[in-house]
Amino acid sequence: MAMATSTLQLTHLSSPNIATPHEVPFPPLFLLPRCSSLRETKQIQAAIIKSQLQHDISVLTKLINSCTANPSSSMDHAQHLFDRITQPDIVLFNTMARGYARSHYPVRAVDLFARGLNLGLHPDDYTFPSLLKACANAKAIGEGYTRNSRPNEALALFRKLQASNLKPTYVTMLSVLSSCVMLGALELGKWIHEYIRKNGFNEYVKVNTALIDMYAKCGSLDDAVSVFEDMQYRDTQAWSAMVVTYAIHGRGSKAISIFEEMKRAGVQPDEITFLGILYACSHTGLVDEGCKYFRSMVDHYGIVPSIKHYGCMVDLLGRAGRLDEAFRFIEDLPINPTAILWRTLLSACSSHDDVELAKHVMERIFELDDSHGGDYVILSNMFARAGRWEDVNNLRKMMKDRGVVKIPGCSSIEVDNVVHEFFSADGTHSESRGLHRILDDLIKELKLVGYVPDTSLVVHADMREEEKEATLRYHSEKLAIAFGLINTPPGTTIRVVKNLRICGDCHSAAKLISMIFGRPIILRDLQRFHHFKDGKCSCGDYW
Ligand code: ZN
Ligand code: ZN
Repeated sequence: MAMATSTLQLTHLSSPNIATPHEVPFPPLFLLPRCSSLRETKQIQAAIIKSQLQHDISVLTKLINSCTANPSSSMDHAQHLFDRITQPDIVLFNTMARGYARSHYPVRAVDLFARGLNLGLHPDDYTFPSLLKACANAKAIGEGYTRNSRPNEALALFRKLQASNLKPTYVTMLSVLSSCVMLGALELGKWIHEYIRKNGFNEYVKVNTALIDMYAKCGSLDDAVSVFEDMQYRDTQAWSAMVVTYAIHGRGSKAISIFEEMKRAGVQPDEITFLGILYACSHTGLVDEGCKYFRSMVDHYGIVPSIKHYGCMVDLLGRAGRLDEAFRFIEDLPINPTAILWRTLLSACSSHDDVELAKHVMERIFELDDSHGGDYVILSNMFARAGRWEDVNNLRKMMKDRGVVKIPGCSSIEVDNVVHEFFSADGTHSESRGLHRILDDLIKELKLVGYVPDTSLVVHADMREEEKEATLRYHSEKLAIAFGLINTPPGTTIRVVKNLRICGDCHSAAKLISMIFGRPIILRDLQRFHHFKDGKCSCGDYW
């Protein structure tokens, strides 16, 4: 084992009374990766001090690794050890970044890396994956609520990595693009696209396919189409990505025409292509076409339908109001239906106000999973619309007894590389108060052009009409759109992401806002994209 280098200092571990390395047995380093607790780690640390190996970077790396590898151990302790090292090497930085990436504070990995760059650190191939994972996890756990600046940091990070000696490969590009999707960071994605072009990575079919996917999921249909059109060679995945892109953007007939073109080009569709085409049909009301494609998938292509294909079929029939047919379809499946499948039908029952069937469907869902707050909310809203307040109360009580909680609606908007998040009626964002006033005025203007708040969506028997209107007015989607209106240049597109389905009232309001202010609005909800322009939505109100 090499002894300490002069650059390393772990002064807090030093003790005047420790024995020399020759007098004590070598610390059981092989035990380090197996330490199951912080206490064990500290015991090993004491042994290291006794052996005077506290300045040996490889020993310290192992010790820190032991802290970070163990979910029950402490990143604080790892940081404590790390902070004592004046010139940590890239291996140590990677170890810490990996630890933070899977901790509750993933963004600290990025902060740490920025510090490393200031120290003249050169990242290696292991640096990238940890940092990207950290960025993605930071987004996933919703770390920073009102001002999440992760995309900004991810972009800065990539720029710095680019300036370093690290030579990214096309595989690196794939992971960067998938991070952009997870972050929903379109601007970062565009920047990465430019980098890909300059460095010739766009010769790879997989990279182009990932670009299509990134643009599609970050809300830029035009850019996705342009990448696809520029491709010299397209395989099944590339064609499928384009079918899916048109599908999630509500361009059902375009999805079908690209699918037909794919077949003419002699490219074999696979199960993903069919998922895209079925999704497209269900979201544009092309029921007969959807049924035809489903049969052809099984009969002509020999593809065994998965639960997702069945889900698309239930959605297709359900959305079109063929609820009994959808119910029989699930009952007759050759495989056991999942709660998600029944949930799809529950949504359709809600759209078509079939309370009795919804009750049957809910029984089926409860047999499989009774912990999903959204199900109770859907049925409760249906009971409320029908004025069945006793049923509403029973359902609420059931929710409470079972400890089921409702997921709050949250909408986010990226402005100048900063993501701002809004919760319904929430006052946590620094500009909330101003936004509420702006929405009050905005709603008055919308009423002049025919907006009528859909108060039937507010499930409170004892609320007065004005109170119900106020509840709708500060929905998270409206707050995010209002924020976009005042913080982005006139005429530019407002892009909003919502964690649940957009509500009917916000959908009506968004259509009118797009018309009055001449602002296209692209809203991604849990299910699809809505493109609002000149008072209309791309979904044709079929959602
Ligand atoms: Zn709403
Ligand atoms: Zn829509």
